[in-house]
Amino acid sequence: MKVIIVGGVAGGASCAARLRRLDEKAEIIMVERGPYVSYANCGLPYHIGDVIEKESSLLVATENTFRSQFAVDARTNCEAIRISPDRKTVELRNVTTGEVTTESYEKLVLSPGAVTVRPPLPGIDLPGIFQVRTVPDARAIREWLERGSLFLAGMDKYSGFQTVRPKTRAVVIGGGFIGLETAENLVHRGFDVTLVEMLDQVLAPLDREMARVVEGYLERHGLRLALNDGVSGFKQAANGVIDVETKSGKTYPADVVILSLGVRPDTALAKTAGLAIGERGGIRVDDQMRTSNPDIFAVGDAIEVKDFVTGQWSLIALAGPANRQGRIAADVIAGRDSRFRGTQGTSIIGLFGAAAAWTGASEKTLNRVGDKDFEKIYLYPNSHAGYYPGARPIAMKVLFRKSDGRLLGAQALGEDNVDKRISALAMAIQMGATIYDLEEAELCYSPQFGSAKDPVNFAGMVAAGVLRGDMPIRHWESAGQEFLLDVREPVELAVEQAPRTVNIPLGQLRARLGELPRNKEILVICRSGQRAYYAQRMLLQNGFKARNLSGGMLSRYHVQLLVN
Ligand SMILES: Cc1cc2nc3c(=O)[nH]c(=O)nc-3n(C[C@H](O)[C@H](O)[C@H](O)COP(=O)(O)OP(=O)(O)OC[C@H]3O[C@@H](n4cnc5c(N)ncnc54)[C@H](O)[C@@H]3O)c2cc1C
Repeated sequence: MKVIIVGGVAGGASCAARLRRLDEKAEIIMVERGPYVSYANCGLPYHIGDVIEKESSLLVATENTFRSQFAVDARTNCEAIRISPDRKTVELRNVTTGEVTTESYEKLVLSPGAVTVRPPLPGIDLPGIFQVRTVPDARAIREWLERGSLFLAGMDKYSGFQTVRPKTRAVVIGGGFIGLETAENLVHRGFDVTLVEMLDQVLAPLDREMARVVEGYLERHGLRLALNDGVSGFKQAANGVIDVETKSGKTYPADVVILSLGVRPDTALAKTAGLAIGERGGIRVDDQMRTSNPDIFAVGDAIEVKDFVTGQWSLIALAGPANRQGRIAADVIAGRDSRFRGTQGTSIIGLFGAAAAWTGASEKTLNRVGDKDFEKIYLYPNSHAGYYPGARPIAMKVLFRKSDGRLLGAQALGEDNVDKRISALAMAIQMGATIYDLEEAELCYSPQFGSAKDPVNFAGMVAAGVLRGDMPIRHWESAGQEFLLDVREPVELAVEQAPRTVNIPLGQLRARLGELPRNKEILVICRSGQRAYYAQRMLLQNGFKARNLSGGMLSRYHVQLLVN
């Protein structure tokens, strides 16, 4: 069996290594257009920020590793330029010499990744404007940042006037995870960073109210956000500065500009073979990663995948799915019956010591696909037992089916152990679990790691309380003319109070039930929803109609941010 793999990074490299483990006799050629195979593109923003100091740390395996350990004929600087599916051949161009050769294949795997969106804006090719996709990209950015730095110019030891103005201002365009990670790293390097984003939020997969919390956090850590504004062009100003001009008429001067406007599937090569391209612009594959040509497979950022929750075709550019798909393609080529289950888009981003993570469907996705059979809850559990030092609240939003309790999606933000909660929920979604399963999940606990009721259990208990009718809820955006009962302590009201509320602290409520209306629905509020739940149970058992305002004053904060 002769297999050619195009693309030598996430999907391609994992396919090559897996195939060798399954078939010692296969002839495997892996071609990579760039100078490196199997490098850690996820680490590039941290190399720019000097967190990962050495470029060599990003090179997970070299061409030689593939040759010696896996007997894979790995060829760097080698671009596949045309596929002839009838003859089952690929034309390969040596990027250094320009020489073109032809190789035959029995099976072909495409893992060409994605191309960075680069609109034809005026001035986009000016020096100082970069993208973050490859090791050479990161090297060019580092060199640009360091050119003019005091150290490199040898001026850190010079006591006279400095003639080279150090670079201090950066503009990052695009608020996706690569843009944000790069922006954070530039802040760490002492840059004054403005992030320009055309949408009205950063991190588009998050629901807006959750993104608002992230944005507040970013601004508190020194990142300037210019949302709802697109870049219209770039101009060279004096002294090497680039003026970044936006559609709203603003100008942001920058010493360095990072373009991070998203990616689109690289389908150029697939098109030479006439492979089917899907409605979202990615290569169409079946659940065994087979394209419309049964001898050609495709994996990674270049393909369309089925969204695991909604069943719709989508584009998900993530390393985990690319690696799994590469492995599945290898399995299938080697005669195994492996299948890809679809993608949930499980993601995490670290920002200034905090993390935002999500999995499954968001509320906006469910609304977009016209799904009405869902409910959402907001909760703010501690990351571990509150009495053990270092506990931090985690802001969580969990979405589930109203009809059967199936878990649909979750988003979480916080400064401690957000990842393990979203990872547990991601696994639950993939297993088709319900919120009732979350109630019963047996998870690690000792005070420094969690709580006897872990945030994952807690999410299940709150959601199950809603579906069982123990805790009917309402959300701030749909609160109307109901009677608003605030059960917090008076001292808390001094910090923040919602209009029209009547305050009866939880401890006094039993004695003061007579002050509450029986002919009106009562919406109960506290800080996070927990004391409101205790009050609500008391009210319901005393014949009142009561609902909990999900997430209490903390979720009101999100909604208010949306309005303002
Ligand atoms: C800066 C950055 C940070 C990221 N951070 C994360 C993260 O934290 N978590 C996460 O899950 N994902 C992250 N990703 C996304 C993740 O890296 C990708 O989803 C993943 O690498 C996709 O794998 P792939 O094999 O499809 O493409 P790639 O890994 O991009 O590999 C494709 C390779 O194919 C080569 N190629 C293309 N066409 C040809 C051709 N015709 N001939 C020969 N070679 C060709 C390209 O040069 C490229 O090296 C990040 C990406 C970047 C750029």
